[in-house]
Amino acid sequence: MTIGRRKLLLGGGGVAATLATGAYASPNTAALEALRPPPKWNREADVVVVGSGASGFPASIAAREAGASVILVEAQPHTGGHGTCSGGNVPLGGGTSRQKKYGIEDSPDLVFRDLTDWSVVETNGFPDYRYNDPEVIRAFADNSPVVFEWLVAHGVVFVDKAPDTLGGSAVGNSVPRENHAAVMNWPMVQTGKPADPSEQATMSSGNGLIRPLEAAAQKAGVEVLLEHKMTAIYRQTARSGRVLGIAVDHKGTTVAIRARKAVIIATGGHTTNVNFRRMFDPRLTEEYCGVAGMPWSEQDASGELAAMAIGASLWGLYNQTGEFGDTITKPAQIGCQYGYRNLHWEPGSPVFDRAGATGLHVDDWQDVILVNMVGKRFYDETAEQYTSNNYDVVKNYKADSYLNAKNMPYNPRNFINAALAGVGDGKSGGGPIWAIFDADAAGREKWDVKPPHVDTKRGFFFSADTLAELARKIQMKYQRLPMPPDALEATVARYNGFVDAGEDAEFGKPKPLHKIATPPFYAAWATPVLHDTRSGVRINGSCQVIDMDGDVIPRLYCCGETAGGFSQHGLARATCQGYIAGKNAAAETETASSTGSRKGGKS
Ligand SMILES: Cc1cc2nc3c(=O)[nH]c(=O)nc-3n(C[C@H](O)[C@H](O)[C@H](O)COP(=O)(O)OP(=O)(O)OC[C@H]3O[C@@H](n4cnc5c(N)ncnc54)[C@H](O)[C@@H]3O)c2cc1C
Repeated sequence: MTIGRRKLLLGGGGVAATLATGAYASPNTAALEALRPPPKWNREADVVVVGSGASGFPASIAAREAGASVILVEAQPHTGGHGTCSGGNVPLGGGTSRQKKYGIEDSPDLVFRDLTDWSVVETNGFPDYRYNDPEVIRAFADNSPVVFEWLVAHGVVFVDKAPDTLGGSAVGNSVPRENHAAVMNWPMVQTGKPADPSEQATMSSGNGLIRPLEAAAQKAGVEVLLEHKMTAIYRQTARSGRVLGIAVDHKGTTVAIRARKAVIIATGGHTTNVNFRRMFDPRLTEEYCGVAGMPWSEQDASGELAAMAIGASLWGLYNQTGEFGDTITKPAQIGCQYGYRNLHWEPGSPVFDRAGATGLHVDDWQDVILVNMVGKRFYDETAEQYTSNNYDVVKNYKADSYLNAKNMPYNPRNFINAALAGVGDGKSGGGPIWAIFDADAAGREKWDVKPPHVDTKRGFFFSADTLAELARKIQMKYQRLPMPPDALEATVARYNGFVDAGEDAEFGKPKPLHKIATPPFYAAWATPVLHDTRSGVRINGSCQVIDMDGDVIPRLYCCGETAGGFSQHGLARATCQGYIAGKNAAAETETASSTGSRKGGKS
């Protein structure tokens, strides 16, 4: 396929022109082309995997070890995706050797029961597991202990301790299941160097999960193509027949890669695609630009869009908007674009120039007030984000019992909702949230309020000698309304009065402690951070993609955050589904019927 043909298909020069400059086409337009088979294939392999993260590497290795040749394409100039930026906390249970070693009794049936229990709810009433697809969960439950041992056999070292709850979200109430991938001496993407030797066997990190898998993929003979971004999937016809391969953008040139057996989508979800994410929640406008895992990799919905363009259905959409877990989080670092609490970009990182700053880590939210775009407080700053289920969170737990919900103490956990509520001008989105503080607060927190700790260059941090001047200075891409100086002054004066009175009469912050009175004054970006994708392409238990008629799209598989029907934070479902998809894709034959099986079932 050539650029010329592409231009013709698009009916104009827009996307083709973008490709010619080397920039990526918008996934919303490029992937929605339902491409016909190209006149000529540039490359081919039995199995083509799209995305080299926590699901893509397992998929590639499993397919290769099952005898298939594998090409793995990756959009970025580096591998690993969010998997490598992650905390490496991997909730694989069901009776792993590690659980047995520490006397924890678990089984696939218990994993399944936990992750489909309708009765488990959060303190705000939102259910964790009610909208999971039982077929998808059954496959996960059955493969969980297998994949734990498989990861170990492929070089992943787990910290030698009993499985616990650290880093888990929606992993089941009955027993602890979190294992922690030891970082070992792999260089970390966050810092560009290995961890201190004293911590290498005890520090959990996604680098310790992904780098051994990458080495295993190389050893197995998986061909990895960097800077190859999948833009569309080829099918025999737009809505029928089997999947044939993919179109890839490589530095402005379109490459057609044939998959003799199958294509596996492992692209990591949709949170960086503004228009896509707003289908789930209209509030998530452009200012939520600090997505966790960026700028290492994007979750731009290119996998979902390419699959939808050839008929795929989406699945379990509640799981994206349910108010639990880490889909929208409160930042822990302020004054920088990327403030996710478990990801600190340091100057040695290969992507630090794009990250911009490390950020100021907030130890005590008493040290700042949070104001919206127009300088008004909106909630108790010490309040936290949504919660989620984990081992023993529901006390006196009894599976499928109405008592579980009754036993949860009610707490609406509305910090995020208040931050996203907007400023009353009829527009969607909460707008930027700014942490306002003074020189005394910087001293208490031991913050160094200069680059590279804060990002002054791109407008994520401002300082001034007066509050009025500070408000006037806050000008950046997402500040669509000026902050009225008198509004910020009035907000701070009122808050200082609450400190004198020992009570926050507006938002009930527990005993406000510190006045904001000593110049210079600061405004640091503290806008909520988007994180998990928990809804996506419909799959069955074999990770085959299902279309809008409930039928399998032959030769198309999907895994990880791009797959729907499973609400759980990350790595276990990604690795497990990658393993399932890789094995099944390799088992396809070239002679299989072009209409495929109907394992998806009608609904
Ligand atoms: C900071 C952070 C901490 C986390 N900590 C944990 C944790 O401790 N425990 C846990 O369970 N989960 C954690 N997670 C979540 C976990 O990392 C993800 O759920 C998991 O990596 C998802 O795997 P994936 O394969 O779906 O996506 P990814 O690992 O993100 O991989 C997707 C890959 O696909 C590539 N790609 C995307 N589109 C294309 C395209 N069109 N063409 C080619 N390539 C493409 C991307 O560049 C990326 O490399 C964390 C995530 C982050 C960001």
